[in-house]
Amino acid sequence: MLTAEYFDGHSTRVRVVNLEADGQFLSIAGEDIERHIPFGEVKVDERLGRAPRRLHFSDGAFCAVRDLRGLDALLSSVAHRDGWVDRLQRRARSALISLVAVVVLAFAGYVWVLPWAVAWAAAKVPAVVSRQLSMETLRALDGNILLPSRIPLHRQQALSAKIRALRLPAGGDPEGELLFRRSLQLGANAFTLPDGTIVILDDLINVIEEDRQILATIAHELGHAHGHHGLQLLLQGSVVGTFLAFYVGDVSSLLAVAPATLVHASYSRKLEEQADAYAATVLRLNGMSPTLLADALKKLADSHRGGGDMGYLSTHPAIDERIRHLRETSR
Ligand SMILES: [Zn+2]
Repeated sequence: MLTAEYFDGHSTRVRVVNLEADGQFLSIAGEDIERHIPFGEVKVDERLGRAPRRLHFSDGAFCAVRDLRGLDALLSSVAHRDGWVDRLQRRARSALISLVAVVVLAFAGYVWVLPWAVAWAAAKVPAVVSRQLSMETLRALDGNILLPSRIPLHRQQALSAKIRALRLPAGGDPEGELLFRRSLQLGANAFTLPDGTIVILDDLINVIEEDRQILATIAHELGHAHGHHGLQLLLQGSVVGTFLAFYVGDVSSLLAVAPATLVHASYSRKLEEQADAYAATVLRLNGMSPTLLADALKKLADSHRGGGDMGYLSTHPAIDERIRHLRETSR
């Protein structure tokens, strides 16, 4: 037997009643009251410390129970009979499942949908915007982090001619310019600007030396250019910038981050693999082996291990795996 105070929800009168489980019903009996209410229609307040718990009924009446342990005993005795508590637990479980689903969806959106959307958007950026971004980026870097190249002009011209002579998978030949620069900070590296201009640094030429391997490295950069990877990087890093670039025609927010983003380009492994695959195709198409790129990467990796924080390795992680993969594909 469990004692409770009964309030009818209309008057301030308090009745002392006894609560009892009677099959599927809660039986309430006391001062001129006798009710049988299905447990399914009873709502029980959450437990709040030692405060009395209330049992609400659909007509606005309620009971206040001070004997919390007694109430627990009553409720658990009912739970087995009509699955009432079970239903509550199921509701909690479905809430948990919804929460997990939301987290998974958000994660999937970030991992799959965002890169997809960004790749789509990067391909739609008007050429004039890419051109402007590239020119502004160069202007910010030149005379600052980038210095004039010391590679002899005839060597520069010979390399440029070889690049220009490459046949590309989609037909035609490379359109982007090849620029030679030197950098004390960036070391042996090359990077691609949004309009496809490739900047190749003296140290990379000096470390690799062999023209065909340098060509292979540039073919990899052509892969980044082909996939608009530089733009993808910029857009991914600046969702606000994306919006502005498309709807207001203002690329200033992209311009602000472009130099740092492009110079320290750290592409995802997926984009690196895409660029490698593109390079392998270009090399084969021009009668060269993809191993040339693997050899070039090996030289860059070795030169990096000799010291220095910057360079190709800092922007191209997972280099050992890429070398292995390139050697396997060229077999
Ligand atoms: Zn790369």
